[in-house]
Formats: sequence, structure tokens, C-alpha cells
Amino acid sequence: MIQDKIPGREVPPQAAPAAPAEQPDAAAARPSAPPPFRKRPEQRRKVCRLCAEQVEHVDYKQFQLLRSFTMESGKILSSRISGTCARHQRQIARAVKRNRNLSMLPYVAK
Ligand SMILES: [Zn+2]
Repeated sequence: MIQDKIPGREVPPQAAPAAPAEQPDAAAARPSAPPPFRKRPEQRRKVCRLCAEQVEHVDYKQFQLLRSFTMESGKILSSRISGTCARHQRQIARAVKRNRNLSMLPYVAK
């Protein structure tokens, strides 16, 4: 036997009373509260590129790789932007600094 009717949720005729208003004290305590922003429908998780490629050690001689982790001005991209994990970010930073010393990468480029 197939059930024809599935017991659905009954919708109350009147909307439920609004949520209790925010306490004015709490709002006053945080005057610089961040503005509410819409969440993206689907937030993609950033994946560490080096972990994905299973790079065990970042070598300072991997010039092309390191350049992809630096800005045009020579700054090292933050892990927040590049999505690098902490371990690889440390390795990148070390390698980039070595490269700067060897003048393969710029300290600051204008
Ligand atoms: Zn990683």
C-alpha cells in the first residue's frame, strides 16, 4: 500500500510572534559591529595547492612556483588569499626570503 497523504507540517494561520528584539545594551556594547552581509549560496573551501599536489618540501630553487605565491610587487601572498596551509606557508615564506637574498625574487618592485 502506498500512502497517498504524507502528514505535512501544519502551517499556523498567523505567523509566529517576532523574535525578541535585541537588547539595547548588547548593541551599545559593540558600536563597531560588522554590518550583516549575505552569505554566498555555496562557499567553496580553499584548498592548499601544495597539499593537493602533495609537495613535501618547498625548495627555494622552484622559482616559478614561488613566484606564483608572490605579488607583483614582491610581497608574499598571505595564506588567506592563496589558501595555503600553515605548514606550506612557512615553507614558502622561507624559500621566498632565500630567493630574495639570492636576488632571484625582488624585495620590493615598483
Ligand atoms: Zn599545504
